[in-house]
Amino acid sequence: MTSLPGRVRLATAVLFAILTLNFVVAQDVLKRGADRRANGHDVTAVEETMQEAGPSGQAVVTGNGINYHGGPVLKGNPVPIYLIWYGNWNGTGSNTAATVSLVENYINTLGNTPRELVNTTYGDTTGNVSGNVTVGGAIFDTGSQGTRLRNSRLTAIVQRALSNGLPTDPNGVYMVLTSSNVSEQGFCSSFCGFHTHQTINGTDIKWAFVGNPDRCPSGCEAQTTGPNSPNTGVGGADGMINVIQHEHEETITDPDLNAWFDASGQENSDKCNFNFGATTACTTGSLCSAAGNSAGARFNATHGGNNWLVQQQWENAAGGKCVQHL
Ligand SMILES: [Zn+2]
Repeated sequence: MTSLPGRVRLATAVLFAILTLNFVVAQDVLKRGADRRANGHDVTAVEETMQEAGPSGQAVVTGNGINYHGGPVLKGNPVPIYLIWYGNWNGTGSNTAATVSLVENYINTLGNTPRELVNTTYGDTTGNVSGNVTVGGAIFDTGSQGTRLRNSRLTAIVQRALSNGLPTDPNGVYMVLTSSNVSEQGFCSSFCGFHTHQTINGTDIKWAFVGNPDRCPSGCEAQTTGPNSPNTGVGGADGMINVIQHEHEETITDPDLNAWFDASGQENSDKCNFNFGATTACTTGSLCSAAGNSAGARFNATHGGNNWLVQQQWENAAGGKCVQHL
């Protein structure tokens, strides 16, 4: 049985502008239910409902600007991240095998980094998030649902991936990653990614959508040339990695949309959306790509032999704030 996702958490909004050479970024989150204008796009209001349960359990730390609503978190050590590469990933620009490798290297070297350990400040009544993640599997789908997607087609893509080799895992995070020729309803106009959960094959599957933001660099990329750009102005891989960071953290800490979010409905990553904190410029001899070095692209994390620019995360401790690491 499948059904449309009843509730969807939107990510990473489209609304930001690089204001100065000092990399000051104004950001905002566009949520369904909101009706705002972003970058000249009219954003259609879509109703989002939310059920709240009372907090339960003594082990859960609260009082840090984000509330616990009684639902579970994902506590795998590691949590497997399943990647569904949809569309043409054997193309040009950032739609390449190099992006696939980069994303997989990012996730496979992210576990237990000071950055990922921020998520260990979240838990449920039976324990906390481990801070460890890994790529649990990856599969390609070159276009079973065409190039104009909507939620029902994303569901079909996830279902097909489960039939074609990915495990049916209620404790994992599935990510549908689309190449830049693929459209998705709302992508680039009202969000850069989202996550939800849905019963597929009788199992509660947590999945997220992240599109290649080279489709809309001004809306979903912090910088058009990133630390790992293959060429100047090709920032899609780094842009995706920032949204992947946002979505997988929200999925781990609010997998069924009933665990961690604040009084206005914002999940932890929403509270730090496109907020990067202190950054460093790529320079000759750095771990950045040649294009990243020559553009002086900014980064704020290093692991797996690469520099990365990813948004901060809300720390559920010490009163709560956006941090780059624990
Ligand atoms: Zn979000």
